[in-house]
Amino acid sequence: MAGAFIFAALLFPLSSCGLEPPLYETGFIAMDTYISLTVYGENAETAAKAAKEEILRIDTLMSAVNPDSEVSKINAMAGETVTVSDDTEKVIRAALKTAEKTDGALDITLRPVITEWGFTTGEYKIPDGETLNNLLKKVDYRSVRVGDNTVFLPFGEQIDLGAAAKGYAGDKAISVLKDYGVESAIVSLGGNVQALGAKTDGKKWNIAVKNPFVENSVSSISNICILGLKDAAVVTSGNYERYFEGEDGKRYHHIIDPSDGYPADNGIVSATIIGKTGLECDALSTAVFVMGAEKAEKLWREKGGFEMLLVTDDKRIIVTEGLSDVFTNLSDMKVTEIRK
Ligand code: AMP
Ligand code: MG
Repeated sequence: MAGAFIFAALLFPLSSCGLEPPLYETGFIAMDTYISLTVYGENAETAAKAAKEEILRIDTLMSAVNPDSEVSKINAMAGETVTVSDDTEKVIRAALKTAEKTDGALDITLRPVITEWGFTTGEYKIPDGETLNNLLKKVDYRSVRVGDNTVFLPFGEQIDLGAAAKGYAGDKAISVLKDYGVESAIVSLGGNVQALGAKTDGKKWNIAVKNPFVENSVSSISNICILGLKDAAVVTSGNYERYFEGEDGKRYHHIIDPSDGYPADNGIVSATIIGKTGLECDALSTAVFVMGAEKAEKLWREKGGFEMLLVTDDKRIIVTEGLSDVFTNLSDMKVTEIRK
């Protein structure tokens, strides 16, 4: 579980200027990570408490380890059609759409493989190739059937929404904050940072992306860059967020390549997606991590709708052109900008 509580993207301190509106901050553990809410405005405290409740509600629906969640119900009743909430339906539909767009780099039916590695329990082990091949027979996102408030999963299959649920929880938290009239806030869920509006002085938020090569540090030295953004989701998938060291001395991380069942090893150490919704960015960040830079660039060119920042294992930073005005490099790594 090393690194599970480290922010993959950190918030820089807000500038203090004269008469600031009320601020309420709260932090708590949910969705298997540390979550913090920084909320400004007259209703800051009430709004933040309601947003926290909303995140806890989504966690209760989508946790694959809570036996009472809808995801657990879908898994326990594989082979039958299960009634689910609008929320669960929406996240599954979005994940399946991203799976299609990325040729299955994101696959919510990977759970049997993820469990075999021990990522669900913390009892880690390195499975042998044959075991993985057998388990992969139960992995195919195309076999999931979603209807109006229903999900059907073939018998023997299992789903895990860990790659996208935090992004959705962030979207729902932002929407609750808006309902309370909040115009300026940051919702941070592990490697996901979602900004509502701008800072209270109208300037952009400075959102930092963690340097994947610097471990266990929350100092600014551990950040690779800053992104200046308003109303945006910044979601990072990194190999440092959850991993274990095998008896062979190698490191095994938690983002699995559905093509072979092993931790993805396509040259990326962190993939950050910047876009409008946490749900889409979260699903894409995991997929892009699996795909590697070349395929990710192709996806960005052909499908678009998002910006990305990739850090490669040979210490290069790749950014899409939409980030050029908002990106400040804090590292000594070479930056390559990709254009349409
Ligand atoms: P994220 O941190 O958003 O990249 O999500 C990673 C989590 O999603 C892992 O901890 C697993 O629970 C799950 N996961 C790992 N690999 C995949 C994959 N290729 N597709 C879908 N879910 C995955
Ligand atoms: Mg993700």
